[in-house]
Amino acid sequence: MRVLTALGLAFAVGLSLPLAAHAKHRAAQPLGSADAAKIHKVEKVAENVYCIFGQGGNIGLVVTAKHAVLIDDQFERLVPGLLDAVRSVTDKPIKYLVNTHGHPDHVGGNVVLEKQVSAIIAHANVRRRMITEQAKLDPAKRGGLPELSLGSEDTKERARLNIHLDEAEIHLLHLGPGHTDGDVLVGIPSVHVMHMGDLFFLGMLPFIDVEGGGSFEGLAAQITSVASWIPEDSRIIPGHGPVCGKKELLRYRDFLQAVQAHVKAHPGQDGAALAKTFDTAAWPEWKPVSEFVTWETFFSVASGKGPGRVARP
Ligand SMILES: [Zn+2]
Repeated sequence: MRVLTALGLAFAVGLSLPLAAHAKHRAAQPLGSADAAKIHKVEKVAENVYCIFGQGGNIGLVVTAKHAVLIDDQFERLVPGLLDAVRSVTDKPIKYLVNTHGHPDHVGGNVVLEKQVSAIIAHANVRRRMITEQAKLDPAKRGGLPELSLGSEDTKERARLNIHLDEAEIHLLHLGPGHTDGDVLVGIPSVHVMHMGDLFFLGMLPFIDVEGGGSFEGLAAQITSVASWIPEDSRIIPGHGPVCGKKELLRYRDFLQAVQAHVKAHPGQDGAALAKTFDTAAWPEWKPVSEFVTWETFFSVASGKGPGRVARP
């Protein structure tokens, strides 16, 4: 998407750790390429796997013998800086771009990057929702749709796609509705790395996009499942927050289960009442973000009501 939609702006403002303090001004005033080049930080996660932090969702980079694969791409205006960050670790061409889901702070660069990758890959529901969103735009501003999709639109079925590129394997796994209805986990099994997209927020309360087909129960079930089978020495790239390990994922699982138990123990209570009696201090890794996801909106969606975030103006 070429434009920064209202939702994209919310992501830029609310979810751009560690840039949240300044993001409001930056989001309102598009960055020039000189600024864009300075925004990204690259962290090596494992051999040939990197996390690129910028503004918006965390980006994964996998380098194979002859190619590179990018996982998410933040915003269109940041692509020049993103490509500089990629080039700081490899000069190999980006063969595939994987979208973990369809939110603008994860797919905003598609419209530029589609010109240089062989294919953009995402769940079928990402493509479907992007087409709907782009129908509102000037035709000249449309583009960057996934060309290869896994799974079926409007179903809750699991889906899987394995990428075999040079000597590397990258596994895409859709386990049903969670953060949205088009999430994929992206695993690099040879080095025990997983990019979990926005199924995993670390440092802030998770956003469950109900309007985008997300489900709190689905999210909790997926995290419980993944935590039960990923290797002990896994390295995890969350959609937002620092790179972490299985220990943090187990904490996240326990947190979601504690929230579920709290909701169950107080039937009929609304989000505000549930938030008031929950031991928030026991879970310092998940902080509310005013104007985006507060304890009240989080408990509203956990109890089956509300859109999962503070209402948009
Ligand atoms: Zn998202």
